[in-house]
Amino acid sequence: NVTEVYNFSAGPAVLPVSVIKKMQAEQPSFKDSGMSVLEISHRSSLYEEMFHQAKSDLRKLMKIPDTYEILFQQGGATLQFTATALNLATKQKRIGLIDSGHWSQRAGQEAQLVGVEVDPVASGQASGYTELPYQLNLTGAYDYLHITTNNTIEGTMYRRLPATEGNLLVGDMSSNILGQSYDVNDFGLIYAGAQKNIGPAGLTIVIVKKDLLGQAQALPAMLDYSKQAKKDSALNTPPVFAIYAAGLVFKWLLDLGGVAAMQKRNEKKAALLYDYLDNSTLFKPAVTKVSDRSTTNVPFMTGDEALDARFIEEATAQGLLNLKGHRLVGGMRASLYNAFPYEGVEALVAFMEKFAKTVG
Ligand code: PMP
Repeated sequence: NVTEVYNFSAGPAVLPVSVIKKMQAEQPSFKDSGMSVLEISHRSSLYEEMFHQAKSDLRKLMKIPDTYEILFQQGGATLQFTATALNLATKQKRIGLIDSGHWSQRAGQEAQLVGVEVDPVASGQASGYTELPYQLNLTGAYDYLHITTNNTIEGTMYRRLPATEGNLLVGDMSSNILGQSYDVNDFGLIYAGAQKNIGPAGLTIVIVKKDLLGQAQALPAMLDYSKQAKKDSALNTPPVFAIYAAGLVFKWLLDLGGVAAMQKRNEKKAALLYDYLDNSTLFKPAVTKVSDRSTTNVPFMTGDEALDARFIEEATAQGLLNLKGHRLVGGMRASLYNAFPYEGVEALVAFMEKFAKTVG
């Protein structure tokens, strides 16, 4: 009998309970306007106030200097694979790709589609992407180097960044933005889809150094960062609800002590699960190198596909939801984003212990 569920989804993912409750309470009438936030115009002062507040809260949370623009975009991280290339790969038309797994490869493929040369400057391939590449083989000039700070599928995460030798760094932070501290100054541009650590799908965060804007000529308007910046990201109708929800999550994060506090919580959650996995005779973690382990996505398996399937089925019946691993890695994956509670990891570990006993 399921009374409470824990949602281990890799994204769209769990949101803070208090945020869901606030959204529910505010739903019929946003700020006493008599209109739902689902109905308000993006040209209204209600929207504008909400938009600017969300932006300034994000700036505070990530300590984003004024020399960086914050854009609220659409099209997910996937469209940013293209947009970053179009806006920033303008001089050499060549970028260096740090290949740490599936999503970094996707970033490279999309850049190539718009005529950018992609040099694989490092790869985790030899380890089957269970270890991160840090040593870069840089040859010639690059418009930027691309890094995926957290590899959602493979379960690896950069705690320290590779030495870029003065090259501009572009970071896909989709699955650990606001969950792990990074210095924004180390990046020329950061992007992230919102649907993992921030809010519902539909919003994509772009943080870009202002002096990088305006180098590209004649881009489709929606993909042109400088046009988007000039129009406060409202070149077309923005995802009002997703921005509203993100704003509530930013407030929730500020109340809990910001990114540093989140990072601590995430480390504690992940440690509980990894400790169990490291000592289990049945379950194995996909990533064994401790310093490369993601705190937000933890893939693991028994090594027996049928047993994995049985585990997932029985876990689901117990309210431990969305534990099926990505097809590229197989097995299970527990995503432990900011809003995922410690108690959920305790429940998972308790269930794994029980399950292991039935297997013998
Ligand atoms: N990059 C990373 C690291 C991801 O985890 C994902 C989504 N799983 C993407 C990019 C693609 O994101 P979107 O669906 O927002 O396009």
